[in-house]
Amino acid sequence: MSDMWHVLESTFGYESFRGDQEEIVGHVVGGGDAVVLMPTGGGKSLCYQVPAMVRDGCGIVVSPLIALMADQVAALRELGVSAAYLNSTQMPDERAAVEDAFRSGELDLLYVAPERLNTAGTRNLLQQGKIALFAIDEAHCVSQWGHDFRPDYLALGELAELWPDVPRIALTATATARTHAEITERLHLGGARHFVADFDRPNITYRIVGKAEPRKQLLAFIRSEGTVDGAPATGIVYALSRASVEKTAEFLAANGVDAMPYHAGLDRTVRQRTLERFLRADGVVVVATIAFGMGIDKPDVRFVAHIDLPKSVEGYYQETGRAGRDGLPSVAWMTYGLADVMQQRRLIDQSDGDANHRRVQQQHLDAMLALCETVDCRRGQLLRYFGQDATQPCGNCDTCLSPPATSDGTVAAQKLLSTIVRLQREFRQSFGAGHLVDILRGADTARIREFGHDRLTTYGIGTELDAAGWRSAIRQLVATGIIAPQGDYGVLTLTEKSGPVLRGDVAVMLRNDPVRSVTRSRSAKP
Ligand code: ADP
Ligand code: ZN
Repeated sequence: MSDMWHVLESTFGYESFRGDQEEIVGHVVGGGDAVVLMPTGGGKSLCYQVPAMVRDGCGIVVSPLIALMADQVAALRELGVSAAYLNSTQMPDERAAVEDAFRSGELDLLYVAPERLNTAGTRNLLQQGKIALFAIDEAHCVSQWGHDFRPDYLALGELAELWPDVPRIALTATATARTHAEITERLHLGGARHFVADFDRPNITYRIVGKAEPRKQLLAFIRSEGTVDGAPATGIVYALSRASVEKTAEFLAANGVDAMPYHAGLDRTVRQRTLERFLRADGVVVVATIAFGMGIDKPDVRFVAHIDLPKSVEGYYQETGRAGRDGLPSVAWMTYGLADVMQQRRLIDQSDGDANHRRVQQQHLDAMLALCETVDCRRGQLLRYFGQDATQPCGNCDTCLSPPATSDGTVAAQKLLSTIVRLQREFRQSFGAGHLVDILRGADTARIREFGHDRLTTYGIGTELDAAGWRSAIRQLVATGIIAPQGDYGVLTLTEKSGPVLRGDVAVMLRNDPVRSVTRSRSAKP
């Protein structure tokens, strides 16, 4: 049995533990259970890898990321750790060899997919060898409320009864109070010590702007802020679709940015080359779908940009967290608009899951929208979401640096709501944002004439806002649930929150939301 500092240095080559690592490792080496909430990149792996090496027997690591298992095991073997994995991708003889190695006590670490661990065969196998600890990675998968729920995780609570003397450590980067409570309860970790890291990333500046022409806005952002001492900085741009990834990368490249696309539809060797250039060269900007970044560790990423709305605050935090791992000033920039909200509502409506699943997705979207529309400190909003206290404004986000102007939008909201009501009552029809704005602005379109909507009493009563102003107001009203899009065409309908606004019982404050930075794109080609 070697001591933990010796393992840290001789096996992993590190001089010292980081943050809570030392306490966590010491606690688990001593046989204690632990719940570890630590952001991505915080160094969770060492928290179970070191104790697994220090304690007698083999550490069993439960991980849902089957695709990453082979890589993780290969990396450990490079370091001289005796590691192996069991999952459904293996051939029977390969599996048998791993099982023999476990029985004979040759393994330090064994990665197992959760569905494997729950089989009688695997449990039987585990009874035949010595176990140093159980590490339950991505422990938030046990939470039905979370976005990655895995039914197989529910059975992991039984490990406590089957191996009462083996320490268990559950780890996740999702720190909401609810997830935390569910992990503790469902994994039977009532007696565990809890280690909750600080989720704040003070060197990241958060900035969220309204979407007008996203690619031009992105280019303007990269030109004005995506540089370090005048030289192009390394960055990641996230987009939702492959098509958007490719178009955006092309647009940036055509405008002098060293940009490359990355998504799962590209050839493996192309992706590998892109990844290597990103890791080695300076100033490369990768435009990617969310698949990019899992397990990538580049400390000097200076900005992460989103040109589409992420599906959840967890996702946003994880993706933006890839910026500034070196602690130097970095920017998380995002642009989002009404179309993003509409699209995501539609995806949720059409998703295969049951009603509960859709409700969960809806809550995630609502939390994300609340972050976008907040007039308070964004960092504060983000940290409170993760269950952390944050009372002081941070001074390093857009709402702190230039507080958004708001104005009373109650009358505007009432005009919009009564237009929706009248269309319903007088025409038995609902419409999307574009047509509603045309009615309010008194536009003379073929559609308006055809339907006779110029006869509505609300026709032309909304000239105080221009079309962009109305779209922004509608986006905010959708975000706050005062109106809701419905069906494939995103027609806008009333909600239970509409009545009080219509009656004047509730005031509506709206961000004035000037879409800045578009005009700054100096030589942007359309
Ligand atoms: P997480 O699983 O929390 O996302 P990892 O365990 O993958 O984080 O660690 C993130 C990075 O930090 C890895 O490159 C890892 O090698 C490095 N790291 C972790 N702990 C230490 C340490 N004590 N000293 C130096 N580097 C560390
Ligand atoms: Zn702030």
